[in-house]
Amino acid sequence: MQIAENLSLLLSELPSGVSLVAVSKTKPIEDIEAAYAAGQRIFGENKIQEMTHKWEHLPKDIQWHMIGHVQTNKVKYMAPYVSLIHGVDRAKLLKEINKQAAKSNRIIDCLLQIHIAQESTKFGLDETELESIITQNPSDIYPNIRIVGLMGMATFTSDLDQVRSEFSYLNSLYKKAKNTLTDIQILSMGMSGDYKIAIEEGSTLIRVGSKLFGERN
Ligand SMILES: *Cc1c(COP(=O)(O)O)cnc(C)c1O
Repeated sequence: MQIAENLSLLLSELPSGVSLVAVSKTKPIEDIEAAYAAGQRIFGENKIQEMTHKWEHLPKDIQWHMIGHVQTNKVKYMAPYVSLIHGVDRAKLLKEINKQAAKSNRIIDCLLQIHIAQESTKFGLDETELESIITQNPSDIYPNIRIVGLMGMATFTSDLDQVRSEFSYLNSLYKKAKNTLTDIQILSMGMSGDYKIAIEEGSTLIRVGSKLFGERN
């Protein structure tokens, strides 16, 4: 009941054009079923094994988003079913996703993750690397990948001006990227603690976990 309530409250706050990834990492199947029963179809996980286990046991119309850091050698496990990979942060990973997508006869949608935070522990491309990928006709180099947008994580800080300026910077890169690649239409930014700011700064896809499912252990 609580999950359904949290979900409807959150959805009621979202302007049109903003979608929700329900981040279910570490949460049991029953929690996902509760959100599913309330109408949610997009779920986000950050571990490929856990996501694959859940995919096997849950309805097949769920769209699974990989939001975590992706290890190259595990791409093959999600290639048959993953709906969107948010965390593409290196060319080598594009190469492997392309290869595994081809084996599954699929074109896999991907977001390029951009490093916008101050923490060095967070992954992502810088502006130069982003430009080099999107200006080199990626759909020719990687025919089984469609780059559909950008993703970023703000610094974990109580300084909300800092968070806002990082999101604003990401949005400026997004607008530029859109002019180069017409497939680009998703800006994935915003989590439980900062999704309101992210939406104000142009997010089209927020990734919310604890505010829906409760705190993780
Ligand atoms: C865990 C996670 C989220 C959700 O975080 P909450 O604070 O629980 O909403 C969003 N994005 C990424 C990349 C995550 O790893």
